[in-house]
Amino acid sequence: MRKKIVAGNWKMNTDIESGVSLAKNIVSNLANELCDCEKIGVAIAPPFTQLYAVAQAVDIEKICLTAQNCAAEAKGAYTGEVSAQMLKAIGCRAVIIGHSERRAYYNETNEILFKKVKLVLENGMKPIFCCGEILAERNENKHFQVIKNQLDEVIFKLSYEDFNNIIIAYEPVWAIGTGLNATQEQAQEIHAYIRSLIAEKYGNEMAENRSILYGGSCNAANAKDLFANKDVDGGLIGGASLKAEDFLKIINSF
Ligand code: PEP
Repeated sequence: MRKKIVAGNWKMNTDIESGVSLAKNIVSNLANELCDCEKIGVAIAPPFTQLYAVAQAVDIEKICLTAQNCAAEAKGAYTGEVSAQMLKAIGCRAVIIGHSERRAYYNETNEILFKKVKLVLENGMKPIFCCGEILAERNENKHFQVIKNQLDEVIFKLSYEDFNNIIIAYEPVWAIGTGLNATQEQAQEIHAYIRSLIAEKYGNEMAENRSILYGGSCNAANAKDLFANKDVDGGLIGGASLKAEDFLKIINSF
């Protein structure tokens, strides 16, 4: 049985006070059965500077503390970078890797993303690996190939054991922050496609067990429909994760 997951990506928003307050509000309102990170994962990804404060303020056994990024190198002279090991040390259990904003604005190539994924895994955390096409690629009907390449060049290079710890987020770039979500059918089509690629590469059991999240303008109003799809196992939520009330509604949409 694969895990249902709702992960909030706060991006470069909130400050220590509002971030801690948001985290506390979410955790204190999580239904008991959702406070079991093994069964259903509720994850929050505050900015780096708030991770430690959030880890001190809430019970991180109840919520999966997640980082938005990490360095592609393990340690050393990389000014301004934050290593996977440092994130693990303050209680992170997952790291978002390959968000389209990182690919587009910081030139993160598949080669760099592979190094990051490996470091996250080596430090005992789970990568939430993002993939997705831009609008022009969808309009030219290239989206299947684009997603296959992103998987082939990064996470499909992993061993079976490593792949077992991967969470995938399908995030059509044209839907991120635009208010224009993928339809129920579009989401299901791509999620089923990704699952079929996993089955081809790692076998049916692996495909059945991997959680594939949808991301892109998912909110309290559309989450129920999107999550009703058989291959959509939850969501990676940007804007709507910044208000506890909305985020909780999304969590309760299964
Ligand atoms: C995201 O950035 O991962 C995302 C899904 O953003 P939004 O929900 O705001 O579209």
